Amino acid sequence: STAQIGVTGLAVMGSNLARNFARNGYTVAVHNRTAAKTTALVEEFGHEGDFVATGSAKEFVDALERPRRLIIMVKAGEPTDAVIHEFAPLLEPGDVIIDGGNAHFEDTRRREKELREQGIHFVGAGISGGEEGALLGPSIMPGGSAESYESLGPMLEKIAAKAKDGTPCVSHVGPDGAGHFVKMVHNGIEYADMQLIAEAYHLLRDVAGYSPARIAETFREWNRGRLDSYLIEITAEVLAHTDAETGLPFVDVVADAAEQKGTGRWTVQIALDLGVPVSGIAEAVFARAVSGHADLREAARGLAGPAAAPLPAEAADAFAAQVEQALYASKIVSYTQGFHQIQAGSEEYGWGVDLGAVSSLWRGGCIIRAAFLDRIRTAYDAQPDLPSLLADPGFAQEIGEAQEDWRAVVVAAVSHGIPVPAFSASLAYYDALRAERLPAALTQGQRDFFGAHTYRRTDREGTFHTLWSGDRSEVRTA
Ligand code: NDP
Repeated sequence: STAQIGVTGLAVMGSNLARNFARNGYTVAVHNRTAAKTTALVEEFGHEGDFVATGSAKEFVDALERPRRLIIMVKAGEPTDAVIHEFAPLLEPGDVIIDGGNAHFEDTRRREKELREQGIHFVGAGISGGEEGALLGPSIMPGGSAESYESLGPMLEKIAAKAKDGTPCVSHVGPDGAGHFVKMVHNGIEYADMQLIAEAYHLLRDVAGYSPARIAETFREWNRGRLDSYLIEITAEVLAHTDAETGLPFVDVVADAAEQKGTGRWTVQIALDLGVPVSGIAEAVFARAVSGHADLREAARGLAGPAAAPLPAEAADAFAAQVEQALYASKIVSYTQGFHQIQAGSEEYGWGVDLGAVSSLWRGGCIIRAAFLDRIRTAYDAQPDLPSLLADPGFAQEIGEAQEDWRAVVVAAVSHGIPVPAFSASLAYYDALRAERLPAALTQGQRDFFGAHTYRRTDREGTFHTLWSGDRSEVRTA
């Protein structure tokens, strides 16, 4: 028993994670249901560090020093349960199982509870950064007992991505499902970021009249400013790419139906349960769904649209600058909504998640890594109990400076018939939050009218009902 860590499930993520541990000087026991993959990994990459190739589950468990630390990197869902049930009987109290797959946090809560009864620590670790991240340094969001993090934390810190200031992009997020919950919201925010970028592209193309190459250049410029992020960087790469076969811009030969694996959808489903308005993320998920409905799109193809022509060349650059403002303001809203969801989940499940620490561990390794996250970190450092990112004076000022351009961009989109669901939903959220009065008062009146659902008044305490079908006098119900 010489291995400090074990990885079972050696598809792309597991192999790369195992290599990352080995390259960082750890002895790694490796295991896979299909043993050929284990042998292949060690043959190809054995020179990178110390691997212990194991065949059976028993051999794997026996190869690990105690307390054992074993990472499961198999397909999420039933395969993860199957693997847990295979290994758990071979383990001892104090051992730690880490699930690094994309598990639903409710599954993680269930598994943690089951294993805790056997004295085994179960850590649900969200891992972001794709294949490359797993190998070179991912962002890691571990949830589980504080005790398990004591033994695991230093190893994860070693293999994790490092932010620009050198801080590892990992920290103990909270108990049981907290890590997978935060990973879920990360993916929701990723959907929103991608949709906002897509809307900006659409506007630059069809309102500003820019070519894909020109738009790539614009994104490169933006990437040197406050929008500096991995997603903006790769957007420029994708837009600048030419299809080898046709010589056309790559973006023009790709079918325009976006697919999804489901974590964005989970984010929205859970937000609905928690009553958290994540409209930007929801619109991003719906935008992918709309794009995929070829039948509906075909049936709607002939519908009338506005006659607006692209802007004259001399107005295009000024419009592009407005789009940058709209994109930045909408991004602030997406993160405001995502962090609200984490806060709400943390309260619902008693996790005590430190929102500043979450922004910190997303600064490197993960798909949404961005200079912007330093700003969020600063906001939570200044006020750890910040009720909303929009309440931070810095963000409030920036969004205030952006708001006129943001509105102008949404107006231009509407008048040109360009769908900007995430830009406009984000603006609506901003306007709703800052409104002195909302029409929710009327909604309450309607609810009281048809269902006697009662209402509260602005001028005194209590709950009231108007006798709508009687003499319309008001009665106090509580
Ligand atoms: P896959 O999700 O494709 O899973 C393949 C692995 O699961 C193989 O090792 C396979 O073994 C094993 N497996 C499947 N079913 C069983 C079973 N019933 N019993 C035992 N082993 C089984 O691999 P990935 O590397 O793409 O992803 C691993 C995990 O990481 C997933 O949960 C995925 O959602 C997550 N992921 C995360 C990403 C990220 O950026 N964070 C990116 C990609 C994935 P065998 O070789 O025998 O078939």
